[in-house]
Amino acid sequence: MMKATIETRPLYPQRPSGQWHNRRVAFSLIIIALLFVVPFVRIGGQPMVLLNVIERKIMLFGVFIGPQDYWLFGLTMLSFFVFIVLFTTVFGRLWCGWACPQTVFMEMVFRKIEYAIEGDAGKQKLLDKAPWTTDKILKKGLKYSIFLIVSFAIANLLLAYVLGTNELYKIISEPVADHIGLFSGIVAFTAIFYWNFAWLREQACTVVCPYGRLQSVLLDRNSINVAYDHERGEPRGKLHKGTDRPEGDCINCFQCVAVCPTGIDIRNGTQMECVNCTACIDACDAMMDKVGFDRGLVRYTSENAIEKKTAGVITPRTWGYAAVLLLLWSALGFVVATRTDTQTTLFRAPGSRYIENADGTISNLYTFKIFNKTNRIIKPSMYLDTPHGKLLFAGSPDLTLEAAGMSEGTVFLIMPKSALKSRKTVLKLSVLQGNRQLETFETTFIAPEE
Ligand code: SF4
Ligand code: SF4
Repeated sequence: MMKATIETRPLYPQRPSGQWHNRRVAFSLIIIALLFVVPFVRIGGQPMVLLNVIERKIMLFGVFIGPQDYWLFGLTMLSFFVFIVLFTTVFGRLWCGWACPQTVFMEMVFRKIEYAIEGDAGKQKLLDKAPWTTDKILKKGLKYSIFLIVSFAIANLLLAYVLGTNELYKIISEPVADHIGLFSGIVAFTAIFYWNFAWLREQACTVVCPYGRLQSVLLDRNSINVAYDHERGEPRGKLHKGTDRPEGDCINCFQCVAVCPTGIDIRNGTQMECVNCTACIDACDAMMDKVGFDRGLVRYTSENAIEKKTAGVITPRTWGYAAVLLLLWSALGFVVATRTDTQTTLFRAPGSRYIENADGTISNLYTFKIFNKTNRIIKPSMYLDTPHGKLLFAGSPDLTLEAAGMSEGTVFLIMPKSALKSRKTVLKLSVLQGNRQLETFETTFIAPEE
């Protein structure tokens, strides 16, 4: 197992090639295109995805999750977590190899740039050891300049998700002095991404990423992973042409190790450092083709499939996770379907009692707060849902609610004595925008004993 310390020397994995690599290149292009397009997609004028964790404003597929949406936020996070657990239990680290932005950018952008400028692993190693000639300065200068430009683009992309494209456009188009804080943020994230992709590299997956560390808990013997078929491959041994071969199919060529971006040997079994990048599958398949053995000595499979020759991946644990996930998704669907645009709290003013007015009506004094649970401005009005009573606001409050904003004030509820049958009466109120009802809620009205 690799040590959990951050190494200062980079690995030099060989350039991967083969059918799995080609599939990953095609898939990565889709992922990269999606990553750059999604911040610009809008639903009803609002960003489809916004991840403003700083101000707790999150937008997922047009559903705004603001600071008031504790339930929605909690359920979304919990469903996401259970989904990750379920997905990993069945499909292993498919996410890491195919869709994780760290792997996609590292393997499909930064390493490709590196191979294009410095050549394959052997040439890179020689260049690093070589004295600082003009050629080395030019190559390194070019590589790190391009790394910096791509890191800058990724930093902007991140801010597009956090702040939205409109805000990002303002930072880019307006004087730097007007957005010095956010501009510093872009510079800081550019530096972090540059450090990550130029220096930290695979150690982000093997040392830093908590998901990788969870594998030992999440995976079971039926999980599908990139795995070495030890039943077929062992005992391993060099190939000697023209002689009978008592060993297994592994010819100990170390090609699977040479291409591994995390520097491990897949033949040692499932390891926390394996990001399921498939490079060793291609390397081993190429070797099997060369020596005339069947492909698939290293392949996507499970421990049980190798040992018991079974292909079942659904275990009781998987059913359990799936049931929990279904419950969570149902609860999430219910919360989204019954969600209102505003959330109002209305309480009787502390220490206040009813007031008996000269015209035969009774007044109760309340304080209220209206929270906007959307990402757009709302101009609400509040009404009492009974023809007998009325609301009288203290002063003339402006109830206009900014996106995810709040408005508060005090209000009298006034009811004719004749409409009150007991000391405590439950009254219904509505919050409207124009004719559209945003929310209804109830409060208790106190009257004198009969
Ligand atoms: S062991 Fe194979 S799949 Fe895992 S990281 Fe290394 S090359 Fe990629
Ligand atoms: S590439 Fe295949 S044959 Fe070569 S060492 Fe790895 S598992 Fe064995």
